[in-house]
Amino acid sequence: MDNIEQRVKELHKLLYDYGYAYYVLDDPIVPDAVYDQYLHELIALEEQNPNLIFPDSPTQRVGAVVSEGFKKVTHTTPMLSLSNAFNEEDLRDFDRRIVGLIDETPAYVCELKIDGLAISLLYVDGILVRGATRGDGTTGEDITTNIKTIRAIPLRLKDPVTIEARGEAYMPKASFQKLNEERAERGEELFANPRNAAAGGLRQLDPKMAASRNLSMFVYGMGETEDVNIDRHSEALQYFKVQGLPTNKETRKCASIEEVLTFIEEWTTNRNELPYEIDGIVIKVDDYAQQEELGFTAKSPRFAIAYKFPAEEVVTTIIGIDLTI
Ligand code: NAD
Repeated sequence: MDNIEQRVKELHKLLYDYGYAYYVLDDPIVPDAVYDQYLHELIALEEQNPNLIFPDSPTQRVGAVVSEGFKKVTHTTPMLSLSNAFNEEDLRDFDRRIVGLIDETPAYVCELKIDGLAISLLYVDGILVRGATRGDGTTGEDITTNIKTIRAIPLRLKDPVTIEARGEAYMPKASFQKLNEERAERGEELFANPRNAAAGGLRQLDPKMAASRNLSMFVYGMGETEDVNIDRHSEALQYFKVQGLPTNKETRKCASIEEVLTFIEEWTTNRNELPYEIDGIVIKVDDYAQQEELGFTAKSPRFAIAYKFPAEEVVTTIIGIDLTI
């Protein structure tokens, strides 16, 4: 094995171990910025050496294996991840690629990237019948009883429609602070961040645990649908709202990449004022026909991208090592 292949294998192992701790145990062993750094090293090596893209590479898969203990759910339409942008140039590349492929300037919808976990809600004839995690994108965990403890999620929609709504379950900052204060009083270990406390709460077998975490949710995407005729993402968001589902009000339709950049700038400044954590901005092509034309890669749609905020200055000690980012 040459050096590059050896490094690729090393990165697979590191990313799998970190991914397992993060996605399955809800207890990360390195900060996200460290995970992202290794992932981007792997992406760069794969771009330069396409013969080293193995089907089991972390770049080709979403999330991690689902844990035992829950009934499994198959997502007929996969729940994918998003490709990332870290700066203006990445966003302009994204826009140029899209314009090149569809031959027109699309309208975009910008949304806050909520730092929680992706959930699918299935309503049959207007009644909530199933809540599931994303899992590995194809197979998730049935967490219906836990989902029903989230008050923001209606058990019945306004109309008796059959739809699958997807979104992010999250822990508001106030719930997180209260939870950690209570844990400190009991001498229990504190949670590192709201995302892991939310994911851990929803993946407990005892629904009382989920209820005690005081979680919430924002819906941001349509999965499998019958009955509804919608042509644009912005229409889907409006439809969710009418049906009584929680949508995020800080969403903006943008006519150009310049407007997208302005939205990002605004939230880079204001993000800390929100009552929940966000780790970036998600940009999606609005028109479903254009989305379809653009299609998907193995892991993510070509019609959307997640801009990640730069890592804030953190010094974390994990497993006895000082990690300064
Ligand atoms: P991602 O977080 O980069 O983006 C995709 C996800 O964004 C979606 O699945 C959805 O859950 C979420 N999202 C939030 N708001 C959204 C919106 N408005 N519209 C659409 N999606 C929205 O991808 P990922 O595959 O879930 O995970 C990667 C992230 O997890 C990275 O930030 C990475 O650093 C972190 N991670 C960390 C570790 C670690 O060890 N610290 C390990 C694995 C992954």
